Amino acid sequence: MRRIPSEVMQAFAREIFIAAGSNADEASIIADHLVEASLMGHDSHGVIRISKYVDWVRAGQVVANRHIRIDKDKGALLVADGGFGYGQVIGKEAMELAAERAHKHGMATLSLRNSGHLGRIGAWPELLAKRGLASVHFVNTSGFGILVAPHGGSDRRLSANPIAAGVPVQGGAPIVLDIASSVVAEGKIQVACNKGEKLSEGLLLDGQGHPTTDPAAFYASPPGAILPFGGHKGSGLSFFCEVLAGSLSGGFASNPDSPTAGRLVNNMLSLVFDPEAFGSAGAFAEDVKRLTVWTKASPPIDPGGRVLLPGEIEAQTRKEREANGLQIDSETWRKIAASAALLGVNSPKV
Ligand code: NAD
Repeated sequence: MRRIPSEVMQAFAREIFIAAGSNADEASIIADHLVEASLMGHDSHGVIRISKYVDWVRAGQVVANRHIRIDKDKGALLVADGGFGYGQVIGKEAMELAAERAHKHGMATLSLRNSGHLGRIGAWPELLAKRGLASVHFVNTSGFGILVAPHGGSDRRLSANPIAAGVPVQGGAPIVLDIASSVVAEGKIQVACNKGEKLSEGLLLDGQGHPTTDPAAFYASPPGAILPFGGHKGSGLSFFCEVLAGSLSGGFASNPDSPTAGRLVNNMLSLVFDPEAFGSAGAFAEDVKRLTVWTKASPPIDPGGRVLLPGEIEAQTRKEREANGLQIDSETWRKIAASAALLGVNSPKV
């Protein structure tokens, strides 16, 4: 395991994306997003993705320097197309539009199809909360990302389908929930595979539909499947991510025969609320504050334990990694360095 200062990794990632065809602004946005995800402990959606993104852009599955296109504008409802551009750029542009409309109309609905990988979905409610807005986001992957068995099923039918929500907090960091509806995000299986580690029980089925702890069984032929979290509950939420993010946007629900099944496409439904438009923004902020204090005051079930709110664990990890550097395993580093070399970029000495 290497420890790499986040600013070194950011500069390296930026250089790689420029060499892969992105302009300097786009390269910075992608590098910032991936480094931020690693800083926050979501290694599965952090710099481990660099080599995959380079493969995809080289194969024409992601298009560099693409911007969001609005296909339908009904004021508080926008339907947009990402044109297979980098999700970090498309997602940011989508959130900026949604914020502007929510401030204007009190709420906004943004339905986005055909975006490249939107990365750490928590980044989007976080951006909105910093602008005083509460939001919830449903995401699906329309073909390439079919990885999850439905409750009671034995093979891949649904995507990992994350749901994220955020709310601003008076005088503090926003509260951000950011969860895949699968019991584990696919990237975490990739991380375990790279580290040669076993996974916990209850996460995976092998290609024959039997429970397994071997991450390699997931990538074998026939491939394994991830289980939904919370059995029928996660499975049901995942189904509705497919409907709300995929079917509604026109970007398709999980479907191996969809026209975009050969590339990783994220679709997202974002619902954004301006508390000010609902009544007293001050009363809303006070009530949220009261809720955080009340929730956290529950006596810990484990001696010495603490009740954490969504987003707190990421803030703790961020503090530690800002001080000590990102944790990058040898296999991930080898893959990033190989992608860089392919593009004529030298790896930093670490
Ligand atoms: P996870 O299981 O680590 O859950 C993270 C959430 O749970 C966060 O909101 C965190 O603050 C909260 N949390 C964690 N520990 C907690 C505790 N002890 N007490 C209270 N709250 C706690 O994350 P995941 O489900 O594996 O998802 C990982 C990442 O993968 C996310 O960033 C997600 O957006 C991303 N993802 C993206 C896609 C995509 O298609 N773009 C698909 C799936 C997942």
